[in-house]
Amino acid sequence: MNNQFLADRIDGKGFAANLVEKLTDDVTDIKEKTGLIPGLAVVLVGEDPASSVYVSAKHRQTLAIGMQSFVHKLPIDTSQTELMALLTELNAASEVNGILVQLPLPAHLDTNAVINAIEPDKDVDGFHILNAGRLATGQDALVPCTPLGCLMMLKDRLGSLAGMNAVVVGKSNIVGKPMAQLLMAENCTVTVAHSKTRDVPALCRTADILVVAVGRPEMVKGDWIKSGAVVIDVGINRIESDGRSRIVGDVAYDEAGHASAITPVPGGVGPMTIACLLANTVTAFKRQHKIVTKKEAVVV
Ligand code: NDP
Repeated sequence: MNNQFLADRIDGKGFAANLVEKLTDDVTDIKEKTGLIPGLAVVLVGEDPASSVYVSAKHRQTLAIGMQSFVHKLPIDTSQTELMALLTELNAASEVNGILVQLPLPAHLDTNAVINAIEPDKDVDGFHILNAGRLATGQDALVPCTPLGCLMMLKDRLGSLAGMNAVVVGKSNIVGKPMAQLLMAENCTVTVAHSKTRDVPALCRTADILVVAVGRPEMVKGDWIKSGAVVIDVGINRIESDGRSRIVGDVAYDEAGHASAITPVPGGVGPMTIACLLANTVTAFKRQHKIVTKKEAVVV
């Protein structure tokens, strides 16, 4: 790292720990007031190792804040009909306030049909077409967890985002697109770059806020970053260097010292994603039980 590294490190781990602490209090309060315990159901089809690790982490952290966790592990040859039947059951179960189907699903299953079979008000991943539409039209939505976490950190750092130039690199349904919608809702001027964008470096240089969600190790170089910009690096890439394996982001962190702040990888966006899943489950519970008005239930 060069000596001129002046950017603040945005501590996603600490931010997530604070959010989890608040949610734990919230769950305790809900139990005292209603006698009910919010519950999250996670469905895993097959035994993909990375997915299994994510599901275990979600289970552990759900229990840790005092909520109920229902994990459904299904064999890899589960049919569409069987999976849909389970979702119908979970949609109807009063003890289940949030439902998440771990992606990716095995190729024989229709992912869009599965996501859209989840009751929208229990869709704590925020991937249902109705939640995507609500977000796009400024209505109360359950918002995808990763971009929600990014927005929380940006607002904590910058306060009002109104009028800022935001560039989002990557346009996936789970990160790039909802991130752009959230920034637009905050009155940023938003540009979305993708693999066919002509001059990504020049575009990035216009950004007061730069969010990168591509999946290419250290693609964004120091000279793509405007001095004083706030940089959110969503990428998680495992690389081999000097004979060892390590995780890096989509931004060349060591070259970003002239940014005003940047999220590290690991320890930036990653920890916020599960914390926001828990937050979405608490929000879903509150909305289902009309504990607060819809406006008050919105986390951001
Ligand atoms: P996808 O592969 O679904 O999307 C990648 C996007 O990057 C696409 O829109 C693609 O463009 C764009 N892209 C690819 N190459 C370039 C390029 N050279 N220049 C500009 N844009 C490019 O990925 P995800 O959105 O699911 O994930 C992105 C990264 O974020 C991954 O590293 C993933 O592991 C990480 N991630 C981290 C999470 C966390 O909790 N921290 C959660 C989710 C993801 P096009 O659409 O044209 O193909």
